[in-house]
Amino acid sequence: QAKKAGRNNFRVFCDDMAHLLTERLEQENDLREALENEEFELFYQPQILIDTGELIGLEALIRWRRPGQGLVLPSVFIPVLEETGLIDSVGEWVLRAACRQHVAWGEQGLNPPRIAVNISGRQFLQAGFSGVVSRILEEQRTLSASLQLEITETILTRDTVHCIETLRNLRGLGLEIALDDFGTGYSSLNYLKRFPIDVIKLDRSFVSECHLKEEDAAICAAIISLGRSLGLKTVAEGVEEPAQLDFLRREGCLAYQGYLFSPPRSPQETTELLSARACEEVPSFDVIDDFA
Ligand code: C2E
Ligand code: MG
Ligand code: MG
Ligand code: MG
Repeated sequence: QAKKAGRNNFRVFCDDMAHLLTERLEQENDLREALENEEFELFYQPQILIDTGELIGLEALIRWRRPGQGLVLPSVFIPVLEETGLIDSVGEWVLRAACRQHVAWGEQGLNPPRIAVNISGRQFLQAGFSGVVSRILEEQRTLSASLQLEITETILTRDTVHCIETLRNLRGLGLEIALDDFGTGYSSLNYLKRFPIDVIKLDRSFVSECHLKEEDAAICAAIISLGRSLGLKTVAEGVEEPAQLDFLRREGCLAYQGYLFSPPRSPQETTELLSARACEEVPSFDVIDDFA
């Protein structure tokens, strides 16, 4: 009896596995076609300097405009892209699209800030990643100062020597490096000393209750002060409430992003934001000189 039940369980298990496997293969196929059919889009979330309200960056966030299903969020498909290795080609598409958009905004006289691009672990650790980035910059005629790359601290636990070399190469090109979701991984303080980085992004999980819970407030304050003493820029993610922003300002955090200022915007909505800002700006003396 027990043996039979065991066999049945095994059957069920195999059926489940087969089902999962076909599902995975279908997903992989759909994603490959999505790339070919240009169904991916980048949305952009503004990053705002806390002191002055100046726009200092735009984080590019991928979306899949899936026919008949609307916009699909990255948490649904990034893991599949990573498991199947498709992330390498989709990641290149993202870099290229961000460069192209930056150049286009520049040509429209919109003075775009840096675009921050999320890089997955697998993509960052691939051999020759910095070469891929420099080739795309050249091919798109984009200045390296147009980009910032966001990586997570867990990536840095893998192959330290290789990571340091890649980071040095990328910064050598003129790109900035941000540590995304800071505080959620191993957060070895040693990383901050050993790895050449420019920005720490304070994770939303601490920010969301920094105005309510003492522990979260303490963690945010500590990370901000650490960043400041190491000469790193600190950017808080997921700011939704004025009280959170007040707290971050008091603690001396440099910049923030979140629904409070704006959710991620479509390219069109981002162009509108940039145009509105370009109109507000007082021409600098350089510009006035050009007219003389
Ligand atoms: P992330 O890089 O930490 O991005 C921040 C996420 O928080 C985004 O989710 C953003 O829409 C969301 N967010 C921003 N402000 C708020 C807020 O005030 N409240 C709340 N609740 N959420 C906020 P999204 O766009 O769904 O992206 C999720 C993750 O997917 C990203 O986390 C990033 O790790 C990954 N991702 C997105 N685009 C790319 C990409 O092009 N390549 C790679 N490799 N990963 C990407
Ligand atoms: Mg990010
Ligand atoms: Mg983040
Ligand atoms: Mg996050």
